[in-house]
Amino acid sequence: MLFFRIRQNIFFIILFTIIVCGGVIVSCNLIDSSPDLVYTMVNANNTKLQGDAHVIKVKNGKIILIDAGYLGPAKEKLVPFLKKSHIDKIDIAFISHPHRDHYEGLLPILNAGITIKNVYFNIPDKEICDREIPWGCNYKQVLYYHKILKQHNVKIKLAKAGLVFDLGNGATIKILYAFDGVHTPVGRTDINDLSLIMMLEQFGHKILFTGDLNRPIGGSLASHAHDIQAGVLKVPHHGTEGCAPNSFFKAVNPKYALVPSPRGLWCSKRSSRIRNWFEKNQVPVFVNGFHGDVKVEIRKGKLRILPENEAINLCQ
Ligand SMILES: [Zn+2]
Repeated sequence: MLFFRIRQNIFFIILFTIIVCGGVIVSCNLIDSSPDLVYTMVNANNTKLQGDAHVIKVKNGKIILIDAGYLGPAKEKLVPFLKKSHIDKIDIAFISHPHRDHYEGLLPILNAGITIKNVYFNIPDKEICDREIPWGCNYKQVLYYHKILKQHNVKIKLAKAGLVFDLGNGATIKILYAFDGVHTPVGRTDINDLSLIMMLEQFGHKILFTGDLNRPIGGSLASHAHDIQAGVLKVPHHGTEGCAPNSFFKAVNPKYALVPSPRGLWCSKRSSRIRNWFEKNQVPVFVNGFHGDVKVEIRKGKLRILPENEAINLCQ
């Protein structure tokens, strides 16, 4: 009898544990509805100046920064965004190419006390770089930034095609192409065509980052690359003329296009080819000069675009 009671009690204890634990798991799933990944195209285009700043936050995974915008917009927009998002540490920063509107914002991030653990920031060929003084690349300044990064104990690494980074929670980012401006399929190029072409992927969703990819390499990729198709395209070169040709957009075949551009620039003649292509092909376009911060969210296998501001008839 006593033995039977003990067995009965053990049975009820196990049953109770299963019900309670099961309930906790179910309620945890209901409570924990945070997205699996959020990519934000931060509005580093709040002035007349263009710039790129992209933050990727993977649930239970890594924080990635792709470019940091100009100094001013980084202070006014990017750093407050990072603080608001409770980001005090960036696991990996990628500088797509050595132009100020892509790397200058690293400084205010470090000055705000935000840790950057690793940075992929390639030093360009000196001759190709210094051809652009005073408006573009400046070799001395690039070296100066490397020095500051080292002073802040940031590990500087070489970005190379083929590198794949596991970001946790099923997300990866891969450097598909990283040309050096000298050894390329189209001969010597400018600095924009050094842009890292990177694919972010999670649960079959693909987001392509293109820096300021220009016409020569953009055209070459459009004809030869078989790995650039993506549902979301970060449009190259702030959506302005000189950037990759329409054949590149066709090869990517995106469902959504994100453009880091100020209002005036996107509606100017300089962006007309790119504007017209996306309009003709009925691809929704999000421009941070209009929409503010634009979030791309992957949640329960679905991808959604969430702009800060609704904006319709952008240039009318
Ligand atoms: Zn740029």
